Amino acid sequence: MNAPVAPVEDDLTAAERERILAKAALFAPPPAVLPDGRRELVGLSRAELEAEMAAIGEKPFRAKQLWHWIYHQGERNFARMTSIAGPMRAKLAERFVVGRPEVSAEQTSRDSTRKWLFRWRDGQQVETVYIPDNDEDRGAVCISTQVGCTLSCRFCHTGTQRLTRNRGVAEIVGQFMAARDSYGEWPSPKDDQPRRLSTIVVMGMGEPLYNYENTAKALRIVMDGEGIGLSRRRITLSTSGVVPMMDRCGRELGVNLAVSLHAVRDDLRNEIVPLNRKYPIAELMAACRRYPGASNSRRITFEYVMLRDVNDSEAEAHELVRLLEGIPAKVNLIPFNPWPGSPYKTSTYEQTAKFAAIVNAAGYSSPIRRPRGRDILAACGQLKTETERAQRG
Ligand code: SF4
Repeated sequence: MNAPVAPVEDDLTAAERERILAKAALFAPPPAVLPDGRRELVGLSRAELEAEMAAIGEKPFRAKQLWHWIYHQGERNFARMTSIAGPMRAKLAERFVVGRPEVSAEQTSRDSTRKWLFRWRDGQQVETVYIPDNDEDRGAVCISTQVGCTLSCRFCHTGTQRLTRNRGVAEIVGQFMAARDSYGEWPSPKDDQPRRLSTIVVMGMGEPLYNYENTAKALRIVMDGEGIGLSRRRITLSTSGVVPMMDRCGRELGVNLAVSLHAVRDDLRNEIVPLNRKYPIAELMAACRRYPGASNSRRITFEYVMLRDVNDSEAEAHELVRLLEGIPAKVNLIPFNPWPGSPYKTSTYEQTAKFAAIVNAAGYSSPIRRPRGRDILAACGQLKTETERAQRG
């Protein structure tokens, strides 16, 4: 039987909300206006786009047209927005831009994983990865929400890079749009048409729930049916367990949830995922139990990195099963990808298989993730580090 769990507030307290927002403001992205005064349109909500049009004396339908060109057609050049009259296109081009990040590096792995290093106007870079499902001609784009990360998870290479700033809305949605440019997947395929870039996992650099406002706005743009049109079922947001924001995420966005669990005891999780000191396992699992929309067809994914002789015993597999009771769950077992200076080793395949068998036998799917894109520096944070090193050299 499960241990009794202390009741947790179903909502953010005012103080918590204020603290998280104040922290986000400290690391705000740069303003969306270029040095020449033109304003970036990518990242504006529909209402904001209408307000920009109203400010230059245009009716709301103009915003609708632009939305279609920007997010359905993927068009960046006003001159090619042919449903808009010529003089108006010129007026738009004087005042606005439809931007994309610059591609600093692009690599495609032998297994077809593709990785980009995108550079933004203030010189900050981001890694975005496309992981194809080679059997089905579709795949996931993994996007980042922060530059660096504050959470210092011990197994994570990104966690060694301090937080520089949050990513803005344009940068979050722009990663997906730039990935689509690379595959020429515009205009947005309709619902019933196959698409290669078919899912988004918000799993890259950073903790998305520490940059919730920008992440939420970006995902709403992605989900808009008259634009990119990716349904919430095709989006998975991964958190290390920012418990108070998980409720909000479920209620407001309804996207799939993934949780970086990695340990089943508080003493160990405090060490591996230090955020656990603030939101311990019992609170985290309670938040998962009440996550809106979780069901057998929409299971919560638990990420579990396999660290040799640290968290990979059979006893821990049984404890994991106990923790998952009552949660529609799936467990991803991730072979640890060592990086220079990392304190851990990868579990043996035999041990990982034993662990998986116990979780499987309890009725939870527990695939062992195949490492992808190893030949192109698959570990999160590596491409950025290596490119910077090459540029310095
Ligand atoms: S695992 Fe995620 S939350 Fe933890 S340090 Fe790495 S990027 Fe940050």
